Amino acid sequence: MMFLRSRSKPVLPAVEQRSLQLSDQHITYTLKRSGKRRSIGLRIDERGLTVSMPLRASEQWLHSVLQDKASWVLDKLENWQVAKVMPIVWQDGATIPFRGEEITLCVVPDLFGAPPRLLGESLLLQLNGVATPQRIEKLVSQWYREQALQVFEECVAHFAPLMEVAPRTIRLSSARTQWGSCSARGVISLNWQLVKLSLPLIDYVVIHELAHLKEMNHSAAFWRVVASVCPDHKELRTALRDIRVG
Ligand SMILES: [Zn+2]
Repeated sequence: MMFLRSRSKPVLPAVEQRSLQLSDQHITYTLKRSGKRRSIGLRIDERGLTVSMPLRASEQWLHSVLQDKASWVLDKLENWQVAKVMPIVWQDGATIPFRGEEITLCVVPDLFGAPPRLLGESLLLQLNGVATPQRIEKLVSQWYREQALQVFEECVAHFAPLMEVAPRTIRLSSARTQWGSCSARGVISLNWQLVKLSLPLIDYVVIHELAHLKEMNHSAAFWRVVASVCPDHKELRTALRDIRVG
């Protein structure tokens, strides 16, 4: 007797990018397949729509779930889009994030001009000449960087002795994808955009990179070093994951 060997089934990708038409809208989403799932789940976060489904779920099932949830998906995605593309309007009265709070730009014409100054919840910008959005943005980002360096240096001055480490240098970075890094030579780079976030989050990133001076990995030993000065590091790390850089 002869057996016909069954042809092996094509292997489905675990993660793929797809698009579809919902109502009159064209949307893209990430499809994830998992052997552990029993149902189809939808999630919308800062990365957009993610659909998780069982490994062998049919396309029909997927299609019907998406059509059923169409209005919910479109609603949530719209909110997300608004939050994502809402840029700062660089003008007098605009609010910008700083150390976890909102501060208001206060643009004042001034014959001589002066460096930006924080007065309570306002950032005073004294500008000589025309206050174009470009000039305001440039001044504010320069100010952000100065503030960032100051905050980072204070943080390091506080935590490095407690952790018994000494970084070689602290550098500002503007990486699009990470908040901080630590080189084998002991150079710590910290994203200047961190200065927009609250102090506990800034502390966590600084502590994380300082801990790499002891443990150049993410082992249990590494997390013990982090926990020694930051007991709630797990919550902070989770919170940080939901914030996009930039
Ligand atoms: Zn790390």
